[in-house]
Amino acid sequence: MTNRQSPAIVLQVTAHAEADKIVTLYCRDLGKITTIAKGAKRSKKRFVNKLEPFTSLVVTCRPPKKGSLFFLSEAELVNAHLFLRRHYPGYVTATFISELVRRFSGDQDGDPAVFSLLSWALAGLAERKNQGVIAVFFLLRLLAACGYQPQLTGCAVCGAAIDQQPAFALYPANGSLLCLRCRRQSRGSSLHLTRQTLKFLASGQQLPLSRLTRLHMSTANAYQALRALCSYSRHILQQDIHSWKQLQRLMQETEHPSQPAATIRRPE
Ligand SMILES: [Zn+2]
Repeated sequence: MTNRQSPAIVLQVTAHAEADKIVTLYCRDLGKITTIAKGAKRSKKRFVNKLEPFTSLVVTCRPPKKGSLFFLSEAELVNAHLFLRRHYPGYVTATFISELVRRFSGDQDGDPAVFSLLSWALAGLAERKNQGVIAVFFLLRLLAACGYQPQLTGCAVCGAAIDQQPAFALYPANGSLLCLRCRRQSRGSSLHLTRQTLKFLASGQQLPLSRLTRLHMSTANAYQALRALCSYSRHILQQDIHSWKQLQRLMQETEHPSQPAATIRRPE
């Protein structure tokens, strides 16, 4: 098997045996792959400071003869994103983003759009842009890239546009929007979204990535959007997004700095 080379971002690193590391990468050309870096824990040159979560690399790796574990031969550092290791809100958001990519991506199912999205989010976090806004738009665009774009232009039943009603509800079971009147006639749990939040989300679906970090969404709107999108994502994945709890706590504390997060109650 010939070596493959690709730009890559480290999603997860775990120790393996005495000296090795198991490194999950999202490669631009190969998608999500799991690699073994032999001797990485002892490496003084080859892998030092490179195999850390969120690091951007150019990797050289050898596909397996059988199974799915690639052999990581070399890694060239592009950007260590050191800021994320010193800035707690940035770190929590990057962890959330990284978990979403791991859960939504199949093995070796490369999508350059997902790689660009991941690079955009890490660069935005490193520039100390609003973490909540980056998390919202990242998840929204990841859902679209994976074929699960929620329908956010208006009510799926009566067709009322988002400009015509003050609030709507998103149904996690199918990612569709219902106006509050149609919601009263339907069953199942749904999550409230104001017109303002929906307008941000509509912009997030349409604008190029380079313009998204310039949008100013309040923490309250970003939190409302993330709750709805995470609920929809959990329904698609049929599993929990573990790092959402940590990000949720952080956003609650940002919105209400004087209150302990555990005491905050909010209406549906
Ligand atoms: Zn309706």
